Amino acid sequence: MDRYAVIGNPIAHSKSPRIHALFAAQTAQALSYEALLGPLGAFAATVDAFRAAGGRGLNVTVPFKLDAFAYATRRTPRAEAAGAVNTLAFGPDEVLGDNTDGAGLLRDITVNLGCPLTGRRVLLLGAGGAARGSLLPLLLTEPARLVVANRSSAKAVALAAEFARLPSCAVAVKPEGCGFADLAGAQFDVVINATSASLGDAAPDLPDGLYAPGSLAYDMMYGKGDTPFLAAARAQGAGRLADGLGMLVEQAAESFALWRGVRPDTAPVLAALRAG
Ligand code: NDP
Repeated sequence: MDRYAVIGNPIAHSKSPRIHALFAAQTAQALSYEALLGPLGAFAATVDAFRAAGGRGLNVTVPFKLDAFAYATRRTPRAEAAGAVNTLAFGPDEVLGDNTDGAGLLRDITVNLGCPLTGRRVLLLGAGGAARGSLLPLLLTEPARLVVANRSSAKAVALAAEFARLPSCAVAVKPEGCGFADLAGAQFDVVINATSASLGDAAPDLPDGLYAPGSLAYDMMYGKGDTPFLAAARAQGAGRLADGLGMLVEQAAESFALWRGVRPDTAPVLAALRAG
């Protein structure tokens, strides 16, 4: 049976084994999928051992996405743009590195939530790996405006400047970068939280009045009930709220499709996860 796994540290609470088991059952693919605890500082050795034992592919999560980028012998353009790899596929002659996080985010927002981004004012909060991986897919939807804001404003300014240098034939919209305080007076149709503030049970310190009527507040984090970011967005008048569980399932489906050549139906899997 073909072996797959998710590697991270910590990894015990990962939902990926359950998601991929549901995908495999639905598509009648004979495969196994496990959670692999990667010792810090020993990513490559752990992956080498997994491959030697018949591993065909890996999902990669915190803190190994940069190690996976370096491990790949070939990378997809979206992995190059993200500067990080969350999916490895092991072939006879190469290790392909991909990044499916941004595509998963886009699919969750535009398909599952039915919220188009084209022509909308989009605010992306954060300038870490998740924000970087989402920038190119977001730009390609041609929003009216895309602002990247971060607690340390210099990181957002640098990230936006990097993507603003892409040729305008490839990407028509130039992202803008700033700090949270610089957002005062601006309004957005979609606000995406790609900070890890919710992990520390906090919400980013944002000015009031950011949410346009009917706007979507989206937190890449997920959990039971509102995350701190979603609770703050609700209080500030966001029209719709969504957490990142759909993104998790959609990025997994992209990885599954890359490995197996068949795209699972994500709706029943997301419903099963929401049911507990
Ligand atoms: P990084 O560590 O790379 O980046 C963290 C970012 O959060 C930085 O921009 C940092 O700002 C900011 N930040 C941290 N604490 C606070 C705070 N208290 N207030 C404001 N900003 C803060 O993390 P990732 O980019 O890898 O992940 C970000 C989030 O996205 C995580 O919660 C992760 O779980 C989630 N995620 C979800 C996925 C899904 O499938 N649903 C997939 C990938 C990620 P500064 O630069 O100032 O330190």
